[in-house]
Amino acid sequence: MAGNQRVCVIGAGPGGMSFLYQNNKLKAAGKRCADVVCYEKQSNWGGLWNYTWRTGVDEYGEFCHGGQYRDLWSNGPKECLEYPDYTFEDHFGKVIPSFPPRTVLFDYLQGRWNKNKLRAYVRFNTVVKDVTYNKTTDYFTIMAKDLTNDQDLPPERFSHVIVATGHFSFPNVPNFEGIDMFRGRVLHSHDFRRATEFKGQRILLVGSRYSAEDISMQCKKMGSGKVITCYRNNPMNFHFPDGIEERPLLTKVDGNTIHFKDGTTAEVDVIILCTGYLYHFPYLSESLRLRSKLSMYPDGLYKGTMWMDDGNNKLFYLSMQDQYYSYTMFDIQAEWACAVICGHLKLPDRKEMESDIAKWVKKRDLLKDCYDDIALQTEFVCDLAKEVGCKYNLDVAALFNKWEDDKRANIATYRDQAYSSIFTGKPGIVHHTPWFKAYDDSVETFVNQTPNKEK
Ligand code: NAP
Ligand code: MG
Repeated sequence: MAGNQRVCVIGAGPGGMSFLYQNNKLKAAGKRCADVVCYEKQSNWGGLWNYTWRTGVDEYGEFCHGGQYRDLWSNGPKECLEYPDYTFEDHFGKVIPSFPPRTVLFDYLQGRWNKNKLRAYVRFNTVVKDVTYNKTTDYFTIMAKDLTNDQDLPPERFSHVIVATGHFSFPNVPNFEGIDMFRGRVLHSHDFRRATEFKGQRILLVGSRYSAEDISMQCKKMGSGKVITCYRNNPMNFHFPDGIEERPLLTKVDGNTIHFKDGTTAEVDVIILCTGYLYHFPYLSESLRLRSKLSMYPDGLYKGTMWMDDGNNKLFYLSMQDQYYSYTMFDIQAEWACAVICGHLKLPDRKEMESDIAKWVKKRDLLKDCYDDIALQTEFVCDLAKEVGCKYNLDVAALFNKWEDDKRANIATYRDQAYSSIFTGKPGIVHHTPWFKAYDDSVETFVNQTPNKEK
């Protein structure tokens, strides 16, 4: 008797939930699907979108996953992450502006999951501790712990594993000479929660990508003193508002004084390391662990998704690439993985898979700028869409390119622009209050466009 495949999904964030969604879709259509168990260490779904005030460890002593800040608004247009089969208009019943606060995006995600009754597949407060693959039996053995009852669960066998625990949660924390004796507070952006905490203070941000860009603007918005950002390789070169400036990397810290590579110094009260994240899969046995540099196409994954080094083509990683596309990319990766696992899509032989990876890696190594990155990720998403016979065109490269241009034009106002949904074709609308002056991030105020609560 050939039963269904038994799939273990690790993590109930947008990636893991997309797998549950895609499998459920097969089931609803009466097609062959998998038996799925999703393990989630947090008490709710959403991954990073499940906002937490906590930093460090959670109530069970587990590493705290969430790194979003209280006042985070999307840094990309929602039209670039919109699900084709569940649009923002489907969810909210109206057109809403393009750059929602995190509460609105989380509401949207949950709408799709609730509508499809996906909660039933998730074991909450359950952390996966160990995953091994046995070549002889061709099974994965999963060891998990029930956190609520502080109890190790009996080992469970699965035919396939989906790793969907994300890669923007385990901070990369470099050292700098003298930082241990710095007189103010030092933190990583993963532990940054409220910019209001730094009102009136002079801030140094280390790093020159999204966190440095957004936290500098966030701090200014909330009334901080002067902000200096510093870069290792590439400056951001945005036209920042007065009070934010960019310098080359710091060389050392002396009391409150920061020394920079260009010989300049500055006095600051706070240092925030916006130095990114590390791939971190301590629960996977060595041979199953993705080890790559963060890039648009991580090494060792067929179709950017299937692990090639071990696990007999039965271990899949969702959303491990550096990201422009997000929800829709995770969704199409999940659909592809689900089709492979359930036997609706046949894999080519190993040689062909290896040469496909080599083709993508070669393109990756030629990327020059953000527009190239966007083009490559568009090609990647469309390639998977073609493989699974997706009826939607997921290409939002034009929107991403406009977004990059808007940011270049004015980093303080790019969120005040309107984008049109490629799925509904409806023109976008502008939020009633410019982002730099918008303090109320409630769903009600944003969605109903009622500016009365703005303070
Ligand atoms: P990231 O994109 O990985 O950038 C890491 C930065 O740290 C790079 O500038 C890197 O410099 C620098 N860095 C790393 N090691 C360093 C070292 N030893 N010394 C000096 N600099 C070092 O990480 P991120 O900016 O935290 O972004 C992560 C994700 O969070 C992104 O997907 C982003 O979109 C998301 N995010 C979203 C929002 C929002 O929605 N509002 C806000 C913030 C972040 P090099 O370039 O030299 O390597
Ligand atoms: Mg961060």
